[in-house]
Amino acid sequence: MKAWRFYGFGDLRLDEVPVPQVTERHVLVEPLCVQPSVTEAQLAQGIPTLAYDRIRRRLEQEAPVQLFGHEFCARIVEVHPSIKNFHVGDRVAARAKLPCGKCGQCLSEMGHRCRRGPVIGFDLPGCFSEFAILPENSLVKVDDNISDSEAACLQSLSDSVASVETANIQIGDSVVIIGQGSMGLECLQIARISGAGRVVTVDVREESCQISRELGADVALNAKQCNAVQAVLDLTDGIGADVVFECAGGSPRQGLAGTQTLRQALEIVRSGGKVIGVSWFGAPLELDIDFLRERSLRYLFPDISTQAHLEHTVRLVASGRVQLQSTIRHQLDGLETVPKAFEITANKSKYQAINPAQVILHR
Ligand SMILES: [Zn+2]
Repeated sequence: MKAWRFYGFGDLRLDEVPVPQVTERHVLVEPLCVQPSVTEAQLAQGIPTLAYDRIRRRLEQEAPVQLFGHEFCARIVEVHPSIKNFHVGDRVAARAKLPCGKCGQCLSEMGHRCRRGPVIGFDLPGCFSEFAILPENSLVKVDDNISDSEAACLQSLSDSVASVETANIQIGDSVVIIGQGSMGLECLQIARISGAGRVVTVDVREESCQISRELGADVALNAKQCNAVQAVLDLTDGIGADVVFECAGGSPRQGLAGTQTLRQALEIVRSGGKVIGVSWFGAPLELDIDFLRERSLRYLFPDISTQAHLEHTVRLVASGRVQLQSTIRHQLDGLETVPKAFEITANKSKYQAINPAQVILHR
């Protein structure tokens, strides 16, 4: 079969490799639609972010190596006899970070706290290939109402579900979401159906603000045309929002907002309110902790998404409560287009992309 293998950062080649054998509690799948995550697109070029050291070590010790490809929709073509709940022909998506199943946290049904398990695409081969082997405990069946293209977004959506759950929104809470990229737009839609009162979104792209309004933001602020901090304070009688999701930060080289949006989030959250850190920054940053302390702020980070979160995403999309289609702008045909998908996804603002670029492997 053909599979993309990395020989180093920025050096990926479409190689001929053996079709992997199905092992216990695993299935063999044929990927139908796959997209690089933003993190993968950055790591592919050697840009420091989540899991950079782990990927660098693997490249140094194991290259050429099949990396990335945890956001996908695939069809099962073979199941190991040990598997009862999945069948040949089922369409599936997967969560990326898996529990180890052996540590004290896992054995106490706290697998979402486990950091010892493998990550699909980082430690196990993902779906930038004609076939792939996947562990049963990563999989969810895709509902017939969900397209292949939408299903490829379910993994990322499950992280957004975990982010909103971490916020523990109370009915009527005012919610601000800074950044209306794909995760920001997902957090917007999930927050709305999870009890949020007024929802205000912030972005610097008018197009994203427009989509945000269409997907239910009560107010979508274009931070290029107004002072977003002042606007939120005006909307909340100077008190600030109950919950702020920070989904815009990250390396300005990739068109992200640096650390400025985190500082804005800390200014527009009310005293005692919660800031949910969805972004990855790729480097340490300085924060005035006394400012957080004085205002009793909660700066929280989402838990790893669980199987329950992933199953919830299937219901959210199948029932139309979360819409994904309007953010998918770039669809490329065939496995050869994978490097182009990485290029677009690593430079979303340059290509006016919102969701990562998708690679369609079977129409
Ligand atoms: Zn564990």
